Amino acid sequence: MFNSLQPLLNRALNLFLKPNCPLCNRTAEHIFCRYCQRQIQDCQLARPDRYWQGDLPLFAWGKYQGSIKQSIAKFKYDGHRSISNVYGEWLAESWQKFTPPIPTKLTVIPIPLHAEKMASRGFNQAELIARSFCQVTGAKLDLSLQRTRSTIAQFKLSKSARQENVAGAFTLINSHLQPDSTVLLIDDIYTTGATVRSVASVLRSHQVNVCGVAVIATG
Ligand SMILES: [Zn+2]
Repeated sequence: MFNSLQPLLNRALNLFLKPNCPLCNRTAEHIFCRYCQRQIQDCQLARPDRYWQGDLPLFAWGKYQGSIKQSIAKFKYDGHRSISNVYGEWLAESWQKFTPPIPTKLTVIPIPLHAEKMASRGFNQAELIARSFCQVTGAKLDLSLQRTRSTIAQFKLSKSARQENVAGAFTLINSHLQPDSTVLLIDDIYTTGATVRSVASVLRSHQVNVCGVAVIATG
């Protein structure tokens, strides 16, 4: 009885211990298989701090193309949440390596989803990335920013319509942020920056110092 169950049990254990790569279904090493991980890391920016300048500086781990694009879609739309952990860790490691000079202790705020989208997706990808980022860096996670107005997905809109779409969509609720906090925003993708600019202006209207935004990938 036990002998006949053993192979089945082993298979189940193997499945549990070594899940398949969400991109190609080969055996995964750490979330991705070696092959896909290499493909993704080929899209990594040599200098993630190259856009760290201007009014709202950007820190981007990689370029939004190829395997990064595919894996972010898997993560967001197919619910492969574990991808967020590895991306959060990679973002944190590269943040620690290239940290732009920031004087005070950092608070991290993920770009929130509207409650309706959160309910249908079941998670906020930016929050998962931010959690993992904070675990590695020791930064403080703050979830007091909320998206109080539902918005159309930015990629469906023209560049000029994007700013209007997100204007007034964000509110700080029950915030424990100190007025002198230094905040880093975290999102998965940065395109025109309309969403993060809207968030930064809400926070800055509460005298919060927003030092910039960190993302997995930028176009
Ligand atoms: Zn793979």
